Amino acid sequence: MRKVLIVMLCAFMFIAMLAGCGSTAPVVNENALYKAGTYDVEVDGHNDKIKLQVVVDDSTIKEIKIVGHKESAGISDAAFEKIPKAIIDGQTLAVDTVSGATVSSKAIIAGVTEALTQAGADVEALKNKTAATTEDKSTREVISKEVDVVVVGGGGAGLSAAATVIENNGSVIVLEKMPALGGNTVRAGGAFNAHDPELQKAQGIEDSFEQFYEDTFKSGDEKADPALVKILTQKAGEARNWIIEQGGQFKDEIYMVTGSLKERARDPLENSQMTYINPLKKKIEDSKNEILLNTKATELIIENDKVVGVKAEDTETGQQYIVKGKNGVILASGGYSANEEMVAEFNNAPKLISSNHSGATGDGIVMAKKIGAELVGMEYIQIHPRGNPKSGLIASYGGNATNSIYVNKDGDRFIDEQGRRDVVANSILEQPDKMMYTIYDSESAPKSAEENVTKGNIIKADTIEDLAKAIGCDPAKLKTSVDRYNTLVDGGKDLDFNKAKLEKKITKAPFYAVNLVPTIHHTMGGIKIDTQAKVINTAGKPIEGLYAAGEVTGGIHGTNRVGGNAMADTVVFGRIAGQSAMGK
Ligand code: ADP
Repeated sequence: MRKVLIVMLCAFMFIAMLAGCGSTAPVVNENALYKAGTYDVEVDGHNDKIKLQVVVDDSTIKEIKIVGHKESAGISDAAFEKIPKAIIDGQTLAVDTVSGATVSSKAIIAGVTEALTQAGADVEALKNKTAATTEDKSTREVISKEVDVVVVGGGGAGLSAAATVIENNGSVIVLEKMPALGGNTVRAGGAFNAHDPELQKAQGIEDSFEQFYEDTFKSGDEKADPALVKILTQKAGEARNWIIEQGGQFKDEIYMVTGSLKERARDPLENSQMTYINPLKKKIEDSKNEILLNTKATELIIENDKVVGVKAEDTETGQQYIVKGKNGVILASGGYSANEEMVAEFNNAPKLISSNHSGATGDGIVMAKKIGAELVGMEYIQIHPRGNPKSGLIASYGGNATNSIYVNKDGDRFIDEQGRRDVVANSILEQPDKMMYTIYDSESAPKSAEENVTKGNIIKADTIEDLAKAIGCDPAKLKTSVDRYNTLVDGGKDLDFNKAKLEKKITKAPFYAVNLVPTIHHTMGGIKIDTQAKVINTAGKPIEGLYAAGEVTGGIHGTNRVGGNAMADTVVFGRIAGQSAMGK
């Protein structure tokens, strides 16, 4: 025992000696800003959690890694690129969000804030600290560029037009005012309608070009330009195949997308970014043609009555550009759903949220009008009935209209779920609180249902009565609505609202309810074009050197755009604009 005590005493003295000479004591930097280390955090993004890893030493934020996320491809890319860089460059949390990707931007900033809090940082000081250097990157001189064709807008129409110019051996510059390509094209589900005789026949679908034309023309209350509808419906199949040739992939299944009248739609295999944007972007970049992001076209340049280019500016640095097009300019700058003033100017619809990206402000329409272009159908604005009440985005998890019912907040069914978008949306606006719930059962639930239950977008219950309680309506009422619908499905006829196709009943638990609201989705009106995508002036004559394609134009859809026809519109007329500008 004595021996043990002596050994312990010696050991203690040895340790004390070492400590005394300071050789193993941690070096504490009293001026340290952070506890050096690697911090892993999770924050709520737009679609799901974003996982971040932040590395700091005692004075510097060294690295910010996005370890995992499910944000929408294309929309959030710019936020992932810019926000971490801005935080590190400025060693500050006072950074701007990236326009068009505000929610993801805020999430990244929140994640880094959380990590730095864990690292013991003075977060408030970092929020107030402006970046040390704010370099003015603009030169005083205007940068001039010249190509064959200038394309304004990097969505589906603009990229289709640019790729077509390249196929016709022309040079092109794409100006895109947002930090990323894609516009509304990447926000949409990407369903592309076409009459494809072979594929439709193989899936037992009877169709014809005439039928596609009739459906489209009638759906727009015969207000569209018949010549443009004819082109759209005849060339859609060719255009879809062209996207496939460029490397875009579609699912094989042909189906009837909501707000359409026939099984003509194919969905992108993965998403719209992969199918429409990436292959065309690659083609433009591979052929050494330029895409200028954050570059907003501000004015059309006219010489001798001909459009010869645009003035543009870098939205970040203010750098001014003059971009000339020997063969002219193609406007493909999308619609104006996100421009509240314009919506109010042309349409007296109630003020609603929009499903569109923030760049959909009608710039092309304003620029073209200024030089005498005719505008058509500006009052026709599509309100989509199925928007997420918070974001306005179309709820892909809202279920298949055929196998769900729409009820108001009292639990009453009120409309043919397969009806035209405008009819359904207007009907929702007449319901209490201007909203509805779609109700479906586990058999008809989309794959994404469960993850949306977790996110709080969907309410789930084991019985219809419990579902009613969860959404706050009378259980007996909702039960009556569902039972009545099931009886109608058994009888094969919707005696209440005349739904054309009745398939499945709502019987298999669990049951789901999705709260949806109308959202401003598409502006059908815009610049008048002829069948060669040439812009027509108020005197009915083409404006030399000016072409337009996609949502910036009017006259293609009439009063109401058929679901699945927007993608067809952008690619068909984008290609025509590219060909026309190249004199084909
Ligand atoms: P479409 O479906 O007709 O192609 P999108 O909305 O997909 O329409 O794309 C239009 C694109 O044009 C968007 O990415 C938008 O940011 C861009 N854009 C809008 N106005 C301008 C402008 N003034 N200069 C450059 N790009 C613009």
